[in-house]
Amino acid sequence: MHHILKRQIKRYLGTHATPPPEWRELFESVSRTYADFDEDRVFLDHSLELSSKEFLESNRRLEKTRLQVEKQAEGLAREVAKRTKDLDKRVVELEQAKIAARNVLEDLQVEKEKLDYAKIKEEALANDLKKFKLAVDNASELIVIADPEGILIYGNKAMETITGYTVAEAIGKKTGALWKTPKPIEYYKKFWETIKIQKQTFKSEIQNRRKNGQLYTSMISVSPILDKNGGILYFIGIERDVTKEKEIDKVKTEFVSLASHQLRTPLSAVNWYTEMLLAGDAGTVTPDQRKYLKEIYKSNQRMVDLVNALLNVSHLELGTFAIEPELTDLTQLTQSVIDEQKPQIDEKKIKISSSFEKAIPRILVDQKLLRIVIQNILSNAVKYTPEGGTVELFLSIDKKTKNLLLKVSDTGYGIPKHQQDKIFSKFFRADNIRGKDTEGTGLGLYIVKSIIEHSGGDVWFESEENKGSTFFVTLPPEGMKKKEGTKTLA
Ligand code: ADP
Repeated sequence: MHHILKRQIKRYLGTHATPPPEWRELFESVSRTYADFDEDRVFLDHSLELSSKEFLESNRRLEKTRLQVEKQAEGLAREVAKRTKDLDKRVVELEQAKIAARNVLEDLQVEKEKLDYAKIKEEALANDLKKFKLAVDNASELIVIADPEGILIYGNKAMETITGYTVAEAIGKKTGALWKTPKPIEYYKKFWETIKIQKQTFKSEIQNRRKNGQLYTSMISVSPILDKNGGILYFIGIERDVTKEKEIDKVKTEFVSLASHQLRTPLSAVNWYTEMLLAGDAGTVTPDQRKYLKEIYKSNQRMVDLVNALLNVSHLELGTFAIEPELTDLTQLTQSVIDEQKPQIDEKKIKISSSFEKAIPRILVDQKLLRIVIQNILSNAVKYTPEGGTVELFLSIDKKTKNLLLKVSDTGYGIPKHQQDKIFSKFFRADNIRGKDTEGTGLGLYIVKSIIEHSGGDVWFESEENKGSTFFVTLPPEGMKKKEGTKTLA
């Protein structure tokens, strides 16, 4: 009997009980069932044992596979990460390459636009150049271009008509060999010094000779054309033939001279007779008559001054005036001009002071001419300074140049900035003094400038409106040069 059944019978029936015989069959059947169970269990156990072994084995294999797979996966992940990184890098590189390509394209576009623009500009420039060349070729004034050595490289049509040389003849030659200007060596020195060393424009009225030897008068202006470093590239010369204008001017000046001369006689007569009447030579004059006679005298004097100034101008312009230098004490000369104008100075209550450097040597000057210069500048200072103002005169020798320097300062109306460049022109009077009670011809400073320039000196001024003016006159240490002439200035 199966041991489990035995144990159960014992538990239910007690150790010593004997199961009834009728249960035997049952017991046997149960026992067999148990036995079958055991058999099954053993089989099962065995199977289980087998399965678990297999299970473990396969588990181990699985684990191994898993590890391998994990390892491979890690490797794969690494590879993937690496490839991804590489790919990212490539993507960035590609992106950069794309941007670079776009930039290049944009640059190319800009360059193309620039090229297009440059082409348009070049065409416009070429058109402009054509226009300019046509204009220069056909200008009525002579235009030439010379290289830095003075060799002609261009000449226009007017050059041919004015000089008589053909362009083909002139090109490649030195300008000096073509224009045989009869001028002293100092003129050429100044010419080259101005254009080559000072690199400025040289302007002058000059007499040139045509190919056929005929002299003609022209206004020339020669300018250097500089590169960006200040080196000379070319010289441009412009010349205007003013021979005809000069002839007309001469005729006009001669007419003025003649007319002024003719006017002098009746004016002198009016002067004398008025003086006689005022002196009572023709009987006593009533106070009213005296008043009118004085007006006549004053107006006539103004006419005399104007006629004298016109005559001076015509003599200066025609070059008929003489310069007769004598050794002169300039301090004395200047003082005598001040004394001469004392009545006008006192009448306007002008404070006048003069300062003369002690060691001023006697100098060769034409006393009449220099007197006209000082008279004009001083009378202007007095005339254009309101009552109670100050006028100062200085006479000195410039330490560096040894030039004689006369300086006349006033505290007067001054000269408006915009008109300062016209002050030495004939008949010019500034706007600011027109309304004031001043009289003048506008010829004084023109005469002063002509005299001083003919004498090798210089004249200029500094002025501020309503503050005053200072006029400067210089003369070279050797004084004025003698000049023959038929007329003296008055
Ligand atoms: P004017 O006969 O008119 O005095 P000038 O030739 O002597 O002629 O002077 C020309 C002009 O220059 C004058 O009309 C005046 O406008 C100006 N001018 C000359 N000197 C002076 C000065 N000292 N102060 C102010 N203006 C002056």
